[in-house]
Amino acid sequence: MNLPAVPVGRFAPSPTGPLHFGSLVAALGSCLEARARGGRWLLRIEDVDAPRCRPEHAAAILRQLEACGFAWDGAVMVQSRRSGRYAEVLDRLKALGAAYPCACTRAELAGAPAGSDGAPVYPGACRDGLPPGRRARAWRLRVTGEIGFDDLVQGPQHQDLPRAAGDGVLLRADGPYAYQLAVVVDDADQGVDHVVRGADLINSTARQIHLQRALGLPTPQYAHLPVALDAAGRKLSKQTRAAPVDARDPWPALRAAATFLGMPAPAGRLAGTDFWQWAHIHWTLAGVPREKSLPARHPPPSASV
Ligand code: GLU
Repeated sequence: MNLPAVPVGRFAPSPTGPLHFGSLVAALGSCLEARARGGRWLLRIEDVDAPRCRPEHAAAILRQLEACGFAWDGAVMVQSRRSGRYAEVLDRLKALGAAYPCACTRAELAGAPAGSDGAPVYPGACRDGLPPGRRARAWRLRVTGEIGFDDLVQGPQHQDLPRAAGDGVLLRADGPYAYQLAVVVDDADQGVDHVVRGADLINSTARQIHLQRALGLPTPQYAHLPVALDAAGRKLSKQTRAAPVDARDPWPALRAAATFLGMPAPAGRLAGTDFWQWAHIHWTLAGVPREKSLPARHPPPSASV
Protein backbone atom coordinates (compact mmCIF):
# COMPACT_ATOMS: atom_id res chain seq x y z
CA MET A 1 0.00 0.00 0.00
CA ASN A 2 1.29 3.47 -0.86
CA LEU A 3 0.85 5.74 2.13
CA PRO A 4 0.48 9.42 1.23
CA ALA A 5 3.73 11.27 1.92
CA VAL A 6 3.68 13.62 4.92
CA PRO A 7 4.12 17.25 3.86
CA VAL A 8 7.49 18.57 5.01
CA GLY A 9 8.66 22.18 5.24
CA ARG A 10 11.82 23.60 6.74
CA PHE A 11 13.67 26.68 7.93
CA ALA A 12 17.35 26.70 7.03
CA PRO A 13 19.23 29.66 8.51
CA SER A 14 22.95 30.24 7.94
CA PRO A 15 24.63 31.06 11.28
CA THR A 16 26.48 34.13 10.00
CA GLY A 17 24.81 36.22 12.71
CA PRO A 18 21.86 36.04 15.13
CA LEU A 19 18.27 35.88 13.89
CA HIS A 20 17.02 39.29 12.67
CA PHE A 21 13.64 40.46 11.41
CA GLY A 22 14.33 39.28 7.83
CA SER A 23 15.13 35.71 8.89
CA LEU A 24 12.22 35.74 11.37
CA VAL A 25 9.86 36.37 8.42
CA ALA A 26 11.18 33.24 6.65
CA ALA A 27 10.95 31.19 9.87
CA LEU A 28 7.37 32.29 10.51
CA GLY A 29 6.14 31.85 6.92
CA SER A 30 7.74 28.43 6.47
CA CYS A 31 6.45 27.19 9.84
CA LEU A 32 2.87 28.42 9.40
CA GLU A 33 2.68 27.00 5.87
CA ALA A 34 4.01 23.58 6.92
CA ARG A 35 1.52 23.40 9.79
CA ALA A 36 -1.36 24.65 7.60
CA ARG A 37 -0.65 21.69 5.31
CA GLY A 38 -0.74 19.34 8.29
CA GLY A 39 2.96 18.72 7.86
CA ARG A 40 6.24 18.53 9.68
CA TRP A 41 8.50 21.58 10.03
CA LEU A 42 12.25 20.95 10.22
CA LEU A 43 15.17 23.09 11.25
CA ARG A 44 18.52 22.92 9.47
CA ILE A 45 21.64 24.91 10.31
CA GLU A 46 23.30 25.78 6.99
CA ASP A 47 26.92 26.16 8.06
CA VAL A 48 28.48 24.48 5.01
CA ASP A 49 30.36 27.74 4.31
CA ALA A 50 32.43 27.32 7.49
CA PRO A 51 34.55 30.48 7.15
CA ARG A 52 31.38 32.66 7.26
CA CYS A 53 29.58 30.76 10.05
CA ARG A 54 30.06 30.63 13.84
CA PRO A 55 28.77 28.01 16.32
CA GLU A 56 27.80 30.82 18.74
CA HIS A 57 25.48 32.27 16.09
CA ALA A 58 23.86 28.84 15.59
CA ALA A 59 23.32 28.59 19.36
CA ALA A 60 21.87 32.12 19.44
CA ILE A 61 19.47 31.32 16.57
CA LEU A 62 18.18 28.21 18.40
CA ARG A 63 17.68 30.23 21.60
CA GLN A 64 15.86 33.00 19.72
CA LEU A 65 13.59 30.52 17.89
CA GLU A 66 12.76 28.79 21.18
CA ALA A 67 11.99 32.15 22.83
CA CYS A 68 9.59 32.85 19.95
CA GLY A 69 7.76 29.58 20.63
CA PHE A 70 8.81 27.83 17.40
CA ALA A 71 8.64 24.05 17.82
CA TRP A 72 10.46 22.11 15.11
CA ASP A 73 10.13 18.40 14.53
CA GLY A 74 12.98 15.99 15.18
CA ALA A 75 16.67 16.71 15.52
CA VAL A 76 18.27 19.78 13.96
CA MET A 77 20.23 18.89 10.83
CA VAL A 78 23.69 20.52 10.74
CA GLN A 79 25.43 20.78 7.37
CA SER A 80 28.97 20.87 8.74
CA ARG A 81 28.44 17.24 9.90
CA ARG A 82 27.39 16.05 6.46
CA SER A 83 30.45 16.41 4.24
CA GLY A 84 30.65 12.61 3.79
CA ARG A 85 27.17 12.66 2.28
CA TYR A 86 28.01 15.60 -0.02
CA ALA A 87 31.19 13.79 -1.15
CA GLU A 88 29.10 10.72 -2.03
CA VAL A 89 26.71 12.83 -4.14
CA LEU A 90 29.57 14.66 -5.85
CA ASP A 91 31.08 11.26 -6.76
CA ARG A 92 27.75 10.27 -8.28
CA LEU A 93 27.68 13.48 -10.37
CA LYS A 94 31.25 12.80 -11.52
CA ALA A 95 30.28 9.25 -12.53
CA LEU A 96 27.31 10.64 -14.48
CA GLY A 97 29.56 13.12 -16.30
CA ALA A 98 27.51 15.97 -14.82
CA ALA A 99 30.41 17.39 -12.79
CA TYR A 100 33.85 18.36 -14.09
CA PRO A 101 37.11 19.61 -12.55
CA CYS A 102 38.05 23.26 -12.97
CA ALA A 103 41.51 24.82 -12.69
CA CYS A 104 40.47 28.47 -13.06
CA THR A 105 41.42 30.97 -10.39
CA ARG A 106 39.21 33.79 -9.13
CA ALA A 107 41.51 36.28 -10.91
CA GLU A 108 41.07 34.43 -14.23
CA LEU A 109 37.27 34.63 -13.90
CA ALA A 110 37.10 38.24 -12.73
CA GLY A 111 36.37 39.68 -16.18
CA ALA A 112 33.55 37.25 -17.09
CA PRO A 113 30.12 38.84 -17.65
CA ALA A 114 27.78 38.75 -14.64
CA GLY A 115 24.73 36.49 -14.46
CA SER A 116 21.34 37.09 -12.87
CA ASP A 117 22.73 37.23 -9.32
CA GLY A 118 25.63 39.54 -10.19
CA ALA A 119 28.30 36.79 -9.94
CA PRO A 120 30.47 36.07 -13.01
CA VAL A 121 29.08 33.37 -15.32
CA TYR A 122 31.74 30.69 -15.84
CA PRO A 123 33.08 31.10 -19.41
CA GLY A 124 33.75 27.35 -19.72
CA ALA A 125 37.55 27.13 -20.05
CA CYS A 126 37.69 23.70 -18.35
CA ARG A 127 34.33 22.38 -19.56
CA ASP A 128 35.86 20.00 -22.08
CA GLY A 129 38.84 18.98 -19.96
CA LEU A 130 41.57 20.61 -17.90
CA PRO A 131 44.04 22.61 -20.00
CA PRO A 132 47.45 20.84 -20.17
CA GLY A 133 49.60 21.37 -17.09
CA ARG A 134 46.74 22.69 -14.93
CA ARG A 135 45.34 20.90 -11.89
CA ALA A 136 41.79 20.76 -10.52
CA ARG A 137 41.01 23.39 -7.89
CA ALA A 138 37.19 23.10 -7.83
CA TRP A 139 34.40 20.95 -9.27
CA ARG A 140 31.61 22.43 -11.37
CA LEU A 141 28.15 21.32 -12.47
CA ARG A 142 27.55 21.22 -16.21
CA VAL A 143 24.30 23.11 -16.90
CA THR A 144 22.19 23.14 -20.06
CA GLY A 145 18.82 24.42 -21.16
CA GLU A 146 16.04 26.40 -19.60
CA ILE A 147 14.25 25.78 -16.34
CA GLY A 148 10.76 26.96 -15.50
CA PHE A 149 8.77 26.59 -12.31
CA ASP A 150 5.62 28.02 -10.78
CA ASP A 151 6.41 29.87 -7.60
CA LEU A 152 3.49 29.76 -5.18
CA VAL A 153 3.99 33.43 -4.26
CA GLN A 154 5.93 35.04 -7.12
CA GLY A 155 4.16 33.24 -10.00
CA PRO A 156 5.71 31.61 -13.11
CA GLN A 157 9.51 31.82 -13.29
CA HIS A 158 11.88 31.05 -16.10
CA GLN A 159 15.66 30.95 -16.35
CA ASP A 160 18.04 30.31 -19.23
CA LEU A 161 20.55 28.50 -17.03
CA PRO A 162 23.77 28.70 -19.12
CA ARG A 163 23.28 32.44 -19.66
CA ALA A 164 21.90 33.44 -16.25
CA ALA A 165 23.98 31.20 -14.00
CA GLY A 166 26.49 29.09 -15.97
CA ASP A 167 28.34 26.04 -14.67
CA GLY A 168 28.30 26.72 -10.91
CA VAL A 169 30.73 25.39 -8.36
CA LEU A 170 29.89 22.21 -6.41
CA LEU A 171 33.12 21.91 -4.43
CA ARG A 172 34.98 25.15 -3.86
CA ALA A 173 38.73 25.61 -4.32
CA ASP A 174 39.03 26.66 -0.64
CA GLY A 175 37.41 23.41 0.57
CA PRO A 176 33.68 23.77 1.36
CA TYR A 177 30.91 22.14 -0.68
CA ALA A 178 28.72 24.77 -2.34
CA TYR A 179 25.40 25.85 -0.84
CA GLN A 180 23.62 24.75 -4.07
CA LEU A 181 24.80 21.15 -3.65
CA ALA A 182 24.18 20.99 0.11
CA VAL A 183 20.67 22.46 -0.06
CA VAL A 184 19.54 20.05 -2.79
CA VAL A 185 20.94 16.99 -1.02
CA ASP A 186 19.55 18.04 2.37
CA ASP A 187 16.07 18.92 1.09
CA ALA A 188 15.90 15.52 -0.63
CA ASP A 189 17.29 13.56 2.34
CA GLN A 190 14.82 15.28 4.68
CA GLY A 191 11.87 14.68 2.34
CA VAL A 192 11.16 18.42 2.04
CA ASP A 193 8.33 18.94 -0.48
CA HIS A 194 7.63 22.65 0.15
CA VAL A 195 10.41 25.23 0.31
CA VAL A 196 9.25 28.56 1.76
CA ARG A 197 12.12 31.07 1.92
CA GLY A 198 13.15 34.61 1.04
CA ALA A 199 12.95 35.87 -2.55
CA ASP A 200 16.68 36.68 -2.44
CA LEU A 201 17.09 32.96 -3.23
CA ILE A 202 14.68 32.83 -6.18
CA ASN A 203 17.60 33.13 -8.64
CA SER A 204 19.14 29.98 -7.17
CA THR A 205 16.04 27.87 -7.65
CA ALA A 206 16.56 26.99 -11.33
CA ARG A 207 20.10 25.78 -10.48
CA GLN A 208 18.71 23.65 -7.69
CA ILE A 209 16.02 22.15 -9.94
CA HIS A 210 18.66 21.34 -12.56
CA LEU A 211 20.74 19.56 -9.92
CA GLN A 212 17.68 17.66 -8.64
CA ARG A 213 17.01 16.45 -12.19
CA ALA A 214 20.65 15.44 -12.73
CA LEU A 215 20.42 13.31 -9.56
CA GLY A 216 16.92 11.96 -10.27
CA LEU A 217 15.50 13.68 -7.17
CA PRO A 218 11.96 15.08 -6.82
CA THR A 219 11.50 18.86 -7.07
CA PRO A 220 9.74 20.51 -4.11
CA GLN A 221 7.19 23.27 -4.60
CA TYR A 222 8.70 26.69 -4.03
CA ALA A 223 7.24 29.78 -2.37
CA HIS A 224 9.51 32.83 -2.20
CA LEU A 225 8.48 35.41 0.38
CA PRO A 226 9.24 39.13 0.02
CA VAL A 227 12.58 40.13 1.51
CA ALA A 228 12.54 42.76 4.29
CA LEU A 229 14.34 46.02 3.50
CA ASP A 230 15.74 48.60 5.92
CA ALA A 231 15.01 52.34 5.72
CA ALA A 232 17.81 52.75 3.16
CA GLY A 233 16.23 50.08 0.92
CA ARG A 234 18.88 47.45 1.68
CA LYS A 235 18.09 43.81 2.51
CA LEU A 236 18.21 43.29 6.28
CA SER A 237 21.33 41.28 6.98
CA LYS A 238 24.33 41.05 9.21
CA GLN A 239 26.19 43.29 6.74
CA THR A 240 23.54 46.02 7.08
CA ARG A 241 23.62 45.62 10.89
CA ALA A 242 20.06 44.36 11.23
CA ALA A 243 19.06 44.28 14.91
CA PRO A 244 18.80 40.77 16.44
CA VAL A 245 15.33 39.56 17.45
CA ASP A 246 15.03 40.25 21.20
CA ALA A 247 14.79 36.83 22.88
CA ARG A 248 13.41 38.46 26.10
CA ASP A 249 10.42 39.91 24.24
CA PRO A 250 10.18 38.61 20.64
CA TRP A 251 6.42 39.28 20.33
CA PRO A 252 6.51 42.78 18.76
CA ALA A 253 8.85 41.35 16.08
CA LEU A 254 6.59 38.31 15.53
CA ARG A 255 3.47 40.50 15.24
CA ALA A 256 5.33 42.73 12.76
CA ALA A 257 6.48 39.64 10.79
CA ALA A 258 2.86 38.42 10.58
CA THR A 259 1.74 41.83 9.26
CA PHE A 260 4.69 41.83 6.80
CA LEU A 261 3.38 38.49 5.49
CA GLY A 262 -0.03 39.97 4.75
CA MET A 263 -1.90 38.76 7.84
CA PRO A 264 -4.43 41.13 9.42
CA ALA A 265 -3.07 43.35 12.19
CA PRO A 266 -3.43 41.29 15.39
CA ALA A 267 -5.85 42.77 17.91
CA GLY A 268 -3.93 43.98 20.95
CA ARG A 269 -0.50 42.76 21.94
CA LEU A 270 -0.79 39.06 21.27
CA ALA A 271 2.04 37.04 22.78
CA GLY A 272 2.92 33.43 23.62
CA THR A 273 0.40 30.72 22.76
CA ASP A 274 -2.25 33.41 22.06
CA PHE A 275 -0.05 34.72 19.25
CA TRP A 276 0.47 31.24 17.81
CA GLN A 277 -3.23 30.30 17.98
CA TRP A 278 -4.12 33.55 16.24
CA ALA A 279 -1.35 33.07 13.62
CA HIS A 280 -2.44 29.51 12.74
CA ILE A 281 -6.01 30.74 12.20
CA HIS A 282 -5.08 33.74 10.06
CA TRP A 283 -2.20 32.38 7.96
CA THR A 284 -2.71 31.93 4.24
CA LEU A 285 0.00 31.74 1.58
CA ALA A 286 -2.44 33.46 -0.81
CA GLY A 287 -2.34 36.55 1.46
CA VAL A 288 1.43 37.04 1.14
CA PRO A 289 2.27 40.16 -0.93
CA ARG A 290 3.52 39.20 -4.39
CA GLU A 291 6.61 41.40 -4.16
CA LYS A 292 10.27 40.39 -4.13
CA SER A 293 11.01 42.93 -1.39
CA LEU A 294 9.16 45.27 0.96
CA PRO A 295 10.19 47.80 3.61
CA ALA A 296 10.29 46.31 7.09
CA ARG A 297 8.19 48.12 9.67
CA HIS A 298 10.09 46.53 12.53
CA PRO A 299 11.79 47.77 14.56
CA PRO A 300 10.21 51.24 14.28
CA PRO A 301 12.77 53.71 12.86
CA SER A 302 13.28 55.40 16.26
CA ALA A 303 14.30 52.06 17.82
CA SER A 304 16.72 50.99 15.11
CA VAL A 305 20.42 50.96 15.96
N1 GLU B 1 20.74 29.28 4.42
C1 GLU B 1 20.09 30.22 3.56
C2 GLU B 1 20.02 31.58 4.24
O1 GLU B 1 20.11 31.66 5.46
C3 GLU B 1 18.69 29.79 3.20
C4 GLU B 1 18.70 28.69 2.21
C5 GLU B 1 17.33 28.16 1.81
O2 GLU B 1 16.34 28.44 2.50
O3 GLU B 1 17.30 27.44 0.83
O4 GLU B 1 19.86 32.56 3.55
